[in-house]
Amino acid sequence: MSDRKVRVRFAPSPTGPLHIGGVRTALYNYLFAKKLGGDFILRIEDTDQGRYVEGAEDYIIQSLKWVGIEPNEGVGFGDGPYAPYRQSERKDTYHQFAEQLVKSGHAYYAFDTSEELEALRKKLEAAKAPVTAYGSAVRMEMKNSLTLSADEVASKLNAGEQYVIRIKISENEEVKVQDIIRGEVVFSTSLMDDKVLFKSDGMPTYHLANVADDYAMQITHVIRGEEWLSSAPLHVLLYRYLGWEDKMPQFAHLPLLKPDGNGKLSKRDGDKLGFPVFPLEFKDPKTGEISSGYREKGYLPEAVINIIAFLGWNPGTEQEIYSLEELVGAFSMEHVHKAGAKFNFEKAKWFNEHYIKTASDERLANHILPLAQEKFGVNDLEFLKKVCALLKDRVSFINDIVCANSFVFAAPANYSADALKKLGSPNLTGFQNLSGFINSIEDFSAANIENSLKQFAETNEVKLGDLMKFTRISIVGDLSGPGVPDLMVLLGKEEIGKRINSFLAQQ
Ligand code: GLU
Repeated sequence: MSDRKVRVRFAPSPTGPLHIGGVRTALYNYLFAKKLGGDFILRIEDTDQGRYVEGAEDYIIQSLKWVGIEPNEGVGFGDGPYAPYRQSERKDTYHQFAEQLVKSGHAYYAFDTSEELEALRKKLEAAKAPVTAYGSAVRMEMKNSLTLSADEVASKLNAGEQYVIRIKISENEEVKVQDIIRGEVVFSTSLMDDKVLFKSDGMPTYHLANVADDYAMQITHVIRGEEWLSSAPLHVLLYRYLGWEDKMPQFAHLPLLKPDGNGKLSKRDGDKLGFPVFPLEFKDPKTGEISSGYREKGYLPEAVINIIAFLGWNPGTEQEIYSLEELVGAFSMEHVHKAGAKFNFEKAKWFNEHYIKTASDERLANHILPLAQEKFGVNDLEFLKKVCALLKDRVSFINDIVCANSFVFAAPANYSADALKKLGSPNLTGFQNLSGFINSIEDFSAANIENSLKQFAETNEVKLGDLMKFTRISIVGDLSGPGVPDLMVLLGKEEIGKRINSFLAQQ
């Protein structure tokens, strides 16, 4: 085991947009592989055709690209030696394993109709049985290759009757799952049912396909969400019954992402608390419903990486800001928590603010350009760079540079009543030639503008405080925003003059 090259996989099903918890699973797989010089694979588990959602696979690929954790093999990232990586394209490989299990007595054909299964379900439910599904307690009452004669089974198979292949779970056996995060977890087979391994549509179920592919792709560690822990004993048994136990990967089940209370973080929780639960915006192809994404909301990908890295792991030090490379160096499974990880929106914002502050003006400008163009018809990259330089340490989301600072792109359409109240009614005669004065300032640097405004206040016998409030409201429409001299430099004499005159005209 230990001499095998580390190979891990992220194995989502394309049943909808990738949840942010899924991105975290991918990240931990990535970090683990990179730290140990291993491979990280993307496998698409699409054997459940009924749950397939158009566009979901591409969404998964684009999400991984956006956050920058690219697999070295897999769907959308180039074929390695174990292609194909989409289970629907591997479907011919699974049947033999189900047959092998039937031959060795660990699985059986079941011919029960959906009506018979429904009747069984009702009966078990009414009896409040510990296992409310097909299993050791009832299998001998059902229509399968354990209860039918060999001839009957053969004739059914020859006649092309529909069947599934079920695993035969023994009674009262202990199955031990060694989990890197949780230690040894013991399950009793008396609480397990005879899960379907192979379906009547010719497709394997998740369990068989997942184990067969992990084996075929030489996966050494299965790192996945806690919701799969209850499937782990079944997977352990499959490795055992297929004779692959010496190649069985090690398991690590990651804690759930929780909102405030218990349960899994849902889109509804996100909407309620004001943050997306998906990396990218997603439009449901059937309902047309749009789910918001971190990217569109104005998060930087490295902030998202830093946020989710800490949802279930910590480095054991005080350091909180980590680049992806630093995470690779610092990551270890020992520091992954067992308890559910709580999403903290304020903390998420804090990470994003940090990364916006430290991002280059050029990168931010390119990012906001389409939005500035759409909202204000502004596409001058040099100007946008200056805008970003001035505003990047004042916003939580990149889009806010445009959306929360419209005064940078257009004169205020109205003036805040609150700000006007605070301005009061100063003697305006002194402001009449303010725009002319500003126009005459030769050295139009922030420092000199500041001095010049002081001089202006003295000469015209107005209070400096009133002057600053007045100019700020003229420019911004409110008393908020960056320093007045900085705004003047950014917008230039002419624009500032216009705004001052137009505010003055309305007094
Ligand atoms: N296809 C499963 C999912 O959608 C994969 C679980 C696993 O990693 O084994 O999450």
